[in-house]
Amino acid sequence: MNLYQSQNLKIQNSLSGKKENFTSINEGHIGMYVCGPTVYSNVHLGNCRTFMSFDMIFRYFKHLGYKVRYVRNITDAGHLVDDAEEGEDKIAKKARLEKLEPMEVVQRYTVDFHNVLQKFNFLPPSIEPTATGHIIEQIEIIKDIIEKGFAYEKNGSVYFDVVKFNKTNEYGKLSGRKLEDMIANTRTLTAQDEKKNSQDFALWKKAEPQHIMRWPSPWGDGFPGWHLECTAMSTKYLGETFDIHGGGMDLKFPHHECEIAQAEASNGVSPVNFWMHANMLTLNGKKMAKSTGNSLLPEEIFSGNNTILSKAFSPSVVRFFMMQAHYTSILDLSNDALLASEKGFNRLLDALAFLPKLDTDTASSFDVKAWKQKCYDAMNDDFNSPILIAQLFDAVKYINLIKEQKETITAEDKTLVENTMYTFVFDVLGLQVKNESQNDEGKLSGVVELLIQLRKQARDNKDFATSDKIRDELMALGIQLKDGKDGTTFSVA
Ligand SMILES: [Zn+2]
Repeated sequence: MNLYQSQNLKIQNSLSGKKENFTSINEGHIGMYVCGPTVYSNVHLGNCRTFMSFDMIFRYFKHLGYKVRYVRNITDAGHLVDDAEEGEDKIAKKARLEKLEPMEVVQRYTVDFHNVLQKFNFLPPSIEPTATGHIIEQIEIIKDIIEKGFAYEKNGSVYFDVVKFNKTNEYGKLSGRKLEDMIANTRTLTAQDEKKNSQDFALWKKAEPQHIMRWPSPWGDGFPGWHLECTAMSTKYLGETFDIHGGGMDLKFPHHECEIAQAEASNGVSPVNFWMHANMLTLNGKKMAKSTGNSLLPEEIFSGNNTILSKAFSPSVVRFFMMQAHYTSILDLSNDALLASEKGFNRLLDALAFLPKLDTDTASSFDVKAWKQKCYDAMNDDFNSPILIAQLFDAVKYINLIKEQKETITAEDKTLVENTMYTFVFDVLGLQVKNESQNDEGKLSGVVELLIQLRKQARDNKDFATSDKIRDELMALGIQLKDGKDGTTFSVA
């Protein structure tokens, strides 16, 4: 029996606004799509939080024994500045400003995205498709939507007819909007507008002569609308209806609403059973924005090279901080909050490190089996990681009391606590033990410490030629040894 058969998982479904029992379409398998980054700048910490929430969700599904196909795309074309219908492509704009090929911009920031995610210990998705790699599929969907009467061509561009769609389907059901209200609140169209209705959105845009990212199509040279790529890639890899579609709260409207409209118009069925939305990250109580200076890049936190925080914080501390909030709540990052998380995380790691050394007894004074199920109950309740962490700290308290001989544990229960803690801390929450020797600084100090030992051996053997050689050669490399009464230390110039 797989674990998922004995656990009753509930997920907050944005489509119904309710927490629903989760069952997958194909038993034992899950198809999950998450809208990935538009790779035109360094990945934002807020985006990292969204992807981290879905990484934790992916990890828990896997732990429960599901086979998950997790698709997270890379947007490398079609996303216009300000998410608007007019204007420059975000990647083409960056390419123009930096005098690079658009694909150089894409490559640079895709590499940055992967580097940051690796530091945060993300599991890679099963498929990471790109928009430019699926132009043919996008054109096919447009042809299909036109044929079904839900899209029209105008001057080389193709628009989705929202008003017509709304007559048979419900446009706005995910974001809880009514089309009539949306129309009432928007400006009326002018004669130059190509759209029939102000809410219509572009499936294909005609490329102006200066637009460098362009592809041939039945409607002339152009490029796909931003919303279309996700419909093309999710349908291609996960089918017409799949289990989970995730993304940031800000994508609910219009992006996800348009994805639903495109898929329903093309396939005639609702594309997704569970829509999940992760909430945003603020910094010192305010929205993060590069323009106001109230923003931090992940690298600036790891290096401590910023004016907002008092010190550097490791990726695992930042991850632990993010896991202390439920993914649907707004989370505020501040220096104090990170300091508190660091303290908590270290307390958790200390208890974990001490766990194997605990003395065992003939009886346990703590119901370990009930505690273990409480850990699962927390995650089964819409991936409630803060409640899970509270349960982990109940175990930390118990471990520390056993250490003080105020509580007892049997050998069997000790193994159970150990396995459960390891599973949730490392496999599900994706945290890592900080290993100094993994970075270059750690390696350097390891090597110098080794040379200090060899020098001491040489001196003990009265081989002063060798001991002086080690000291002088290190000095030539800018590493100075200092002999003190507690042994030898070193400093790097
Ligand atoms: Zn998307």
